[in-house]
Amino acid sequence: MKAPRIPVCEPCLAGNEERYVLDALRSGWIGSSGKYLSGFEAGFAAYCGAGHGIATSNGTTALHLALTALGVGEGDEVLMPDFTMAAVLFAVLYCGAKPVFVDAEPDTYNLDPRLLEAKVTRRTKAIIAVHTYGHPCEMTPILAVARRHGLKVLEDAAEAHGAEYRGRKCGSLADIAAFSFYSNKIVATGEGGMVVTGDDRLADRCRYFRNLCFPTKGPRDYRHKDLGFNYRFTNIQAAIGLAQLEKIEEYVEKRRAHARFYNARLAGLPGVSLPVERPWAKNVYWMYGVCLDARATGIDRDEFAERLLERGVETRPFFKPMRTQRPYQARFGRVKGRFPVSDRLAREGLYLPSGSGLKDAELERVCGAVRAALHRHPR
Ligand SMILES: *Cc1c(COP(=O)(O)O)cnc(C)c1O
Repeated sequence: MKAPRIPVCEPCLAGNEERYVLDALRSGWIGSSGKYLSGFEAGFAAYCGAGHGIATSNGTTALHLALTALGVGEGDEVLMPDFTMAAVLFAVLYCGAKPVFVDAEPDTYNLDPRLLEAKVTRRTKAIIAVHTYGHPCEMTPILAVARRHGLKVLEDAAEAHGAEYRGRKCGSLADIAAFSFYSNKIVATGEGGMVVTGDDRLADRCRYFRNLCFPTKGPRDYRHKDLGFNYRFTNIQAAIGLAQLEKIEEYVEKRRAHARFYNARLAGLPGVSLPVERPWAKNVYWMYGVCLDARATGIDRDEFAERLLERGVETRPFFKPMRTQRPYQARFGRVKGRFPVSDRLAREGLYLPSGSGLKDAELERVCGAVRAALHRHPR
């Protein structure tokens, strides 16, 4: 009999989720207001160390809303990582702004702050710092570039719930931050997102644009001064979110324990590089991403992934560089210059199962499968 497949990432829903959802349902508050919604917004923002949380329909809309609140629009340039998830690129494109890509660091997979300043022009308006796979960006040099050139900084913390930079939580390190609560994120509500900020004015702008630009104060006269969006979140989903938030410390600890488990058993395999944790960082290992140097291992990433799947271990390849994506190239053409790290990560990277609910026996099976897959040299 074949052992069951180990999924890359599944939500844990064993807390108060069922109770809170039923309570929300029975109360009749199924729409975009109610005690779970306000409780989740306030609770999650406070957890991040920020004053305001504005829940949204998903992480992509949270990014778009945050950029809109910052005033990013037509003719602006936004510095962002080349190695990241498409939602970041798309949010910039929705604003009519031009994404300007920055190559990655080889070990944290984050945007390399040393490459940032050379890309600043008169048109640059903002920087998006994505905390990739749970490892925080090195914020001090990023914020320094922003300060020197009068730029805004948006954190994309979709993958970094609970991660810390020099003892402070991601989500409270810059002007504004966006989170996702998609089913595979550390705090999951199915679909969902949140903008988090300490800035009263930005928070008010987010609430305004989230709700079709109805005035946030005073009477509704159905005169709309700006082009708004319906990016609202529901009380039912927030009920799940609040139950998840009660367990966030446990989930983060589980992720970190899984990473220690993998690190201990996979260290020293030739040609395999493991995720890092810089001295100033608390990595929450949303994904446990490894890179495979085919010259040293004798097999490439896709072959490796296939062999793991034969042994019941699911994996996912890393992102493809944003500068190669058609929606970007259709508007702005091909990007000049080299992005050697981003290209290498896209070729060599994959992530191993990392869900908070994984058991040691499953992690052990993954490690056994990794060793076996590397051992069988073909050709
Ligand atoms: C998941 C994710 C998003 C988008 O979130 P959705 O809720 O799926 O829209 C944005 N940025 C990053 C880095 C992500 O990992």
